[in-house]
Parts: sequence; structure tokens; C-alpha cells
Amino acid sequence: MSGINLGIIGGGQLGSMLSEAAKKLNIKTIIYCDDIDAPAQNFCEQFIYGDYNDKNKIQEFVNKVDLITYEFENIPFETLCEINKIKKVIPKPSINKLIQHRLTEKDFINKLNIRTTKYASVERKTDIEALGDFLPGILKTTTLGYDGKGQYRIKSKQDLNSLNIDFSKGYILEKLVKLKKEISVIITRFSNNSYEIYEPIENIHEDQILKYSKIPAEINKRLFDESKEWSIRIAEELKYIGTLCVEFFIDRNENLYVNEIAPRVHNSGHLTINAFNISQFENHIRAVCSLEKVPLKKISNAKMINLIGNQIIPYRKNLKVDDNQFFFDYQKKEVKTKRKMGHLTTLI
Ligand code: ADP
Ligand code: MG
Repeated sequence: MSGINLGIIGGGQLGSMLSEAAKKLNIKTIIYCDDIDAPAQNFCEQFIYGDYNDKNKIQEFVNKVDLITYEFENIPFETLCEINKIKKVIPKPSINKLIQHRLTEKDFINKLNIRTTKYASVERKTDIEALGDFLPGILKTTTLGYDGKGQYRIKSKQDLNSLNIDFSKGYILEKLVKLKKEISVIITRFSNNSYEIYEPIENIHEDQILKYSKIPAEINKRLFDESKEWSIRIAEELKYIGTLCVEFFIDRNENLYVNEIAPRVHNSGHLTINAFNISQFENHIRAVCSLEKVPLKKISNAKMINLIGNQIIPYRKNLKVDDNQFFFDYQKKEVKTKRKMGHLTTLI
């Protein structure tokens, strides 16, 4: 028995899969989430429901655990700092603060001499009108966006009249990259220059939501090496502990750009559960709990499809899957359009 009680903030599917990986390592997970229906309560040892600003509830949570990690990056920075004064939060809160904000995140990446698309800060409509060559582009809220939420596609300045944009929030305008492909690289860093890195994963999005992932990514050797090298550089510079994902764009001229960094396990890495000896989830638990680093071994090529909204229904009704297929139901109570309900991984 390891005897470790690991606190996880956030109770979605990532929290569930982290809990399952922890169980395998004899680590107990206690999940804190602001959603009373959080699906991860079906997978963890103990579940605490409370607001992310509820000091008493958070204290109750902190008392029960030895250390804390998180499954999503949008936790108030102040909350993470308060917790970190009592029990260690890994990855450290300062990393979360940097990456939570799309402008500071992109400034950080560019400082490392790593390419991103052109971007600018936008606080009011006239800021966009005054900008030069940024369109067609995507306007994104600087904080709290996921799965394409809080994003507006803007083709030309005329579009600004028809779009009803809430300028009480801060935005970033990104020039649209003419996409050939999207890939992601998942890396788990244990300590200085000690990490395990997965090969690049190729991703297809529909309506800005991830739909398919597969390995191997069909990319040339330069892109394969460069995407891994950039990911290592980012993880080292952050002195990151745990699993991190870097999302990349490849344009039609085969230029590589970092889209964004996720300071956590990532949807594109779900196939690592079946395609590798150690999944991104198990590696995260191993790194944050200071367990042994086991060399990664690939078991198989794989593809994963996200089951979104009512696509889950036939699988729930006992639709047969083949021996090389693995179906995951996140056990979310309510089926909603655009909601990730489960996934299916096929070893190929
Ligand atoms: P989220 O935080 O919601 O994942 P992303 O910034 O990753 O937001 O955007 C979601 C998807 O939208 C991307 O994976 C990509 O398909 C598309 N997208 C976002 N920004 C750009 C861009 N600048 N150029 C081209 N496509 C983009
Ligand atoms: Mg993204």
C-alpha cells in the first residue's frame, strides 16, 4: 500500500480516469468539484461537493488529503494558492495562472522562440477595427474557454456588426492558421530532464471540439521531432511536474505552431490507456506522487473517437464492440448536445 491520499480538483471524465489510474497504484483519490452530478464521484474513493470559493468546504477537502492535483485549469488562482499554503498543489499554481490566460500563455511560448499564430489583445470593438492583418481570425475569451466555447470566427471587419460580442470580457484575436493538420504531444515530467514523452497524436476537430485522435500521426520526421522538442522545452522551462499536453497546428506549408498548452491530462491522450504500457493518467499520478518513472512502451497503433451527445446511446444499449475495441462511458447523467459522453478506442 502506498498510503497516499491524493486530492483532485474537478470531477469530469479526466478526474474519473485519473482516479482509475490511481486505484491501480493503491492511491486513494478524494475529488472536489462544484458540480453535484460530477461523473468522477462514481470512480473516486471520496467525493466532496462545493464551490471553488467555499473556504470551509475546501478546508474539509484539504484536511483529508496529502497533496493535490487538478483535472482542469480554470480553478481560481487564489483558491490554488490558499490550498498550496497548507498542502502541496502539483502542478504549482503559478503554472496554472500563466496558462489560464491565453495572452500570458502565448507571450510565454513566444519568449521561448516557439512559433504561435499572430495574436493581439482586444478589449473593445474599435481595437479590432484598428488592427492590421489579423483577419480572417478567431476572437477568443482570454480565460475560461474550452471546446470552442467563448469563440467567434471573424472573416472581415463587416462581421463585427452582425456578431453580438460581450465586451465586458477580455479577448484575444488570433489570425486564422490555414490548417493542414492538428497534432498534440503529451509529456509527463518527473524532475529536471527526467520525463516520459508520447509520440505525436493526430487530431481532427469538428465544430472546434475534438472528434478523432490517432497514432501514428501522418507527419514528416521534421514535424515529429520539432513538436517533441518544443514540448520538452515548454515542460522544462515551466519546471512542470505531471502530465502536460501541447496542442499544435500544422499549416499548408508544413509550418508548425503551438496552439495552446493544457497543464493537465488531455482528451487526445485517451488512447494511451490502451496503446501504451503506462497511460497519460498513470504517468500523471506517478509524477505528482513521486513514484517510480517506468519507461514507456508502445503496445499498438490506435485511433479514438469521442462519443458526443446522443452518439453514446447505441453503445449504452449494449452495442457489441470488437476485441480490439475499448468503450468508455463517462456515466454523465444527462445527455446534452456537444457534451463529451464517452469514447471508443480501437487498436489498429
Ligand atoms: P479550446 O480551448 O476550446 O480547446 P482552441 O484554441 O484549442 O480552444 O480552439 C479549438 C479549435 O479551434 C482548435 O483545435 C482548432 O481546430 C480551431 N482553432 C482555434 N484557433 C485557431 C486558429 N488561430 N487558426 C485555425 N484554427 C483554430
Ligand atoms: Mg484546444
